[in-house]
Amino acid sequence: MENTLPSPDAPARPFRVAVIGAGISGLAAAWQIRRLRPEAELAVFEQQHSVGGVLGTVRENGFQVERSADNFITTLPWGVQLCRELALEDQLVTTHPDHRRAFVVWRGRLHPLPDGFLMMAPTRLWPLATTPLLSPLGKVRAAMEFFIPPRRDDNDESLAHFARRRLGREVYERLVEPLVSAVYGADMERLSVLATLSRFREMERNYGSLIRAMRVQMAQRRRAGTSRDGHSRESGARYSMFVTLQQGLQELVDRLAQHLPPGALRLGVGVTTIRRENDHWVLTLTDGHQFVGDAVVVATPAYAAAPLLCELDGRLAEELAAITYTGSVILAVAYRREAVGHPLHGSGCVIPRIEGSPLLAVSFSSQKYPHLAPKGYVLLRVFAGGARHPELVSLEDTQLVPLLRKEVERLLRIEGQPVQHWLFRWSQAMPQYEVNHGDRLRRIAERLAAWPGLALAGNAYRGVGIPHCIQSGRQAAVRALGLPVEDQQTSSSAF
Ligand SMILES: Cc1cc2nc3c(=O)[nH]c(=O)nc-3n(C[C@H](O)[C@H](O)[C@H](O)COP(=O)(O)OP(=O)(O)OC[C@H]3O[C@@H](n4cnc5c(N)ncnc54)[C@H](O)[C@@H]3O)c2cc1C
Repeated sequence: MENTLPSPDAPARPFRVAVIGAGISGLAAAWQIRRLRPEAELAVFEQQHSVGGVLGTVRENGFQVERSADNFITTLPWGVQLCRELALEDQLVTTHPDHRRAFVVWRGRLHPLPDGFLMMAPTRLWPLATTPLLSPLGKVRAAMEFFIPPRRDDNDESLAHFARRRLGREVYERLVEPLVSAVYGADMERLSVLATLSRFREMERNYGSLIRAMRVQMAQRRRAGTSRDGHSRESGARYSMFVTLQQGLQELVDRLAQHLPPGALRLGVGVTTIRRENDHWVLTLTDGHQFVGDAVVVATPAYAAAPLLCELDGRLAEELAAITYTGSVILAVAYRREAVGHPLHGSGCVIPRIEGSPLLAVSFSSQKYPHLAPKGYVLLRVFAGGARHPELVSLEDTQLVPLLRKEVERLLRIEGQPVQHWLFRWSQAMPQYEVNHGDRLRRIAERLAAWPGLALAGNAYRGVGIPHCIQSGRQAAVRALGLPVEDQQTSSSAF
């Protein structure tokens, strides 16, 4: 690494780009940089001694366990597309067709999520009318959604406020809150509806009602040949709504790392500051060296990006530092099949806040993807913490494991000891898109406009899922290289 800035009369040197952070966002940025400027000299700085950030797969005694994300959505194209580019498409595994339904816990028991209920709105009314999860009054209130005047302004509101306003308190508390909590681990009273599930506000605005919008969209999909779960019936590969990789999601980040040029990946080397000097970017590294280059993609969590940038642009750093995060824990736990009383005929269950349980959700991992456990065993992943129970993330193992086990064993009628467990703690892994997150993104974009060659990527901005992170990395690469963004839709995720 260089320790000094190049002198003006030094011979021309290659275009140099740094990516900070080798999670999926940073690795996707590096992949895109290689595609767009293969001649550029690339350096990827990662403070840990391994790639992947929160992603990683553990293999032990025939079990395959994900440390955080265990699959990704296919209704956004960017995950599958990257797998295709990396020649990993034949490794994609779809969820078991018999185990795609989800359950909701109500009064300590699992009930099927009403068929066709998609996060915040029903595509079908009959399953909602017959579910034991709602009282008769709750059902009447939900049906009234059809007649509630729509809000047509552009102002943000919390997800809780939106769901209660449209569908009533019961649908919010017993369906929407647990489903959204399982994804974002967030406080629904603070989570921005526009930054997380804006399509539902668009439905309200465009169709006057969520129920009406869902029905129109379903009819359109039927005509276009796409099924209710977004599963394409057109020719070409067919995927379920979620997919994983045969060898685990570690494979995705490992494959991206393998494609980096020799010497580009600098594991165990963090970045401490980013400065601008004589039209160059100067990075101070934890190994005592500096990197001097022409473009930088910062693909760390926002709270880690803020201190790097505070000397360069205090207001940008303040905006980044104001993005809050929650933590979570995952207890992956394996039992003999016969020890589990529940038939586990689904993908997992979500647990509403009003149940008073420490759990957010339980994924029936080896039911979704049978290759994750040896025959005769089941692998479950128990999620807890989030904004509901932040204290759990720092609880001692000796208290945490029995607490989570007791709860899951009661819910799923499990008798006897597990054969093995793995505990993963994520103290600040999930960004919270609070109400008016969109305004913050606009202010961040304004600050960045003053810094050509600098771009941000990661889950803190426009989506927490793996496909969004991939897209944010690729778009950050485009921006850092000073190239025009392709179209309106993709430019919206570019920083
Ligand atoms: C428990 C959990 C479950 C999830 N489940 C799913 C799921 O099922 N499906 C899905 O699509 N998504 C899921 N997600 C979300 C998704 O996994 C993450 O949003 C995504 O992996 C984040 O990737 P990233 O690269 O933006 O950030 P990270 O993975 O956090 O990577 C950032 C990297 O930057 C490095 N870094 C930080 N500071 C510095 C520095 N100063 N210098 C150098 N390096 C630095 C860090 O060490 C880290 O490696 C889940 C997330 C969690 C936490």
